[in-house]
Amino acid sequence: SFTLKVTSKISPDEPPIETVPEETHTGTIYLTFDDGPSLSITPQILDILKSNNIQATFFIVDYACGSEREELVKRAFNEGHTIALHGTSHQYSEIYSSLDALINNFETLQEKVFTSTGYRSYIIRFPGGSSNTVSKKYCTGIMTDAVEYFSTTDFVYFDWNVDSQDAGGAYSKEEIFENVTSMIKPNRSNIVLMHDSGNKKYTVEALQDIIDWGIAEGYEFKAITQETPQVTHRIAN
Ligand code: ZN
Repeated sequence: SFTLKVTSKISPDEPPIETVPEETHTGTIYLTFDDGPSLSITPQILDILKSNNIQATFFIVDYACGSEREELVKRAFNEGHTIALHGTSHQYSEIYSSLDALINNFETLQEKVFTSTGYRSYIIRFPGGSSNTVSKKYCTGIMTDAVEYFSTTDFVYFDWNVDSQDAGGAYSKEEIFENVTSMIKPNRSNIVLMHDSGNKKYTVEALQDIIDWGIAEGYEFKAITQETPQVTHRIAN
């Protein structure tokens, strides 16, 4: 006996009828990298993502036009990653001095990215996250006001629900791997906080293992878009 695969077409406009199971995933992993691009780390991250054919999201800070770092922004964009905005400056005393300063911090970088890539990014991440309390020192209520303001614009902000702790607390690739994989949960958007600033070599070292684990567990990896379900923290200022 043999199995006959029937592919019948009813009309040219209708898809063929097949008995192919729908592709299902355990959940989605959004790898996000903050504070780059850096000449030392970002190219290695991009190489790993490319060799795995995976897209991620880069919440970048300022860079000079015509610089090697600008080339990395263009490369990441051309390789299908989402260029998202962390802001021109990461200096809390500056960016959280007023709502205008905070808005300007995103808009100036948005403009620069547009000049570099032709892409106008509306995806943002507040330095320190939306739940930061450091901003209280500079402007009471600014995070509450910022969230309200940005909800009236096309900007969408993303925090995270998986923290690699590569910005403090994790000092080996094993710890980063453990922090990430222990917090990823099925049937939801897992937004993973990592960094690609200059000294994050453990992040680079852990990345392939994290990807291998995710694929083996049935997750799909995606870059954040404006349609991605928002993951946000509780506002604390
Ligand atoms: Zn940051």
